[in-house]
Amino acid sequence: MYSEPIFLQPVFQEKIWGGNKLKTVYHYDIPSEQTGEAWVISAHPNGPSVIENGPLKGQTLAEAWESHGELFNKSADNNEAYPLLIKILDANDDLSVQVHPDDAFAREVEGVPYGKTECWYVLDANPDSELILGHHAETKQDLEQMMADGEWDELLRRVKVEPGDFIYVPSGTIHAIGAGIVILETQQSSDTTYRVYDYDRTDADGNQRELHLEKAAAVTNVPHRIPELNQEEAVSGDLTMTKLVENEYFGVSQWVLNGRVEQTMEADFLQVSVIKGDAVLAVDGKRFEIKKGTHFILPHGIEKYELSGEAEFVVSWV
Ligand code: ZN
Repeated sequence: MYSEPIFLQPVFQEKIWGGNKLKTVYHYDIPSEQTGEAWVISAHPNGPSVIENGPLKGQTLAEAWESHGELFNKSADNNEAYPLLIKILDANDDLSVQVHPDDAFAREVEGVPYGKTECWYVLDANPDSELILGHHAETKQDLEQMMADGEWDELLRRVKVEPGDFIYVPSGTIHAIGAGIVILETQQSSDTTYRVYDYDRTDADGNQRELHLEKAAAVTNVPHRIPELNQEEAVSGDLTMTKLVENEYFGVSQWVLNGRVEQTMEADFLQVSVIKGDAVLAVDGKRFEIKKGTHFILPHGIEKYELSGEAEFVVSWV
């Protein structure tokens, strides 16, 4: 039985709104000073993570999902793509305002396997940073009219955030990350985005980025609803675990470790991102040093593992 954690190399995406915090704060070897995203646990074809260690070293996560389904407790008749995607985003400038479809719309209209429900753990935020989450339209007709008239200040719902905040963004929620915010995103493995508003920005040639108002209006939930999260805290040894969200696609927890804990695997597999501090992960007598910026999967087959150190994690599962 495979009993090693699977460490993954991030894939970087340069973006016009990106910055350099993925280097200055996370010490990644980024391609430019406008690096917006690190896809840190990804099997998506637009940026697949490569495995760094163990018998599958050099394979992509997507290849491991295909050829070693047992690592994920995947049933033999499961032909679906790897379901989740974890990113760190550094918004040096405002991201465009956007919305994602649900699974049914994504399959029917775009021919891709998944829509996109996502959530954000705020890693860093400048004082008074804001993001956009939802809107103030009461009916679909109001929404379409305000979009057509460009009444963005009236339409878009703004929310102030600070480090440690958690934001849940179900498919159909209009959203945008604002300048000065760094987040860890847990999402369905999808890259389908409908752009609603781009602040009328133009590129060096004077062109605006394309908008997708019709599809955006079609998939947007009206009126905006604030979801109930029922967050729960549990303590095991020196580990405090706060469940941030659990839905039909994923569960996400924040873990704070101050000492030592022995854990039993309960999920099919666990995705783990170290967001603060450093620690030692011990599995089957093997020790692995982990620190802020390390991302790994604990595969099916590992029954127990031990963590020791002073660190914080964002953990997710299917
Ligand atoms: Zn999004």
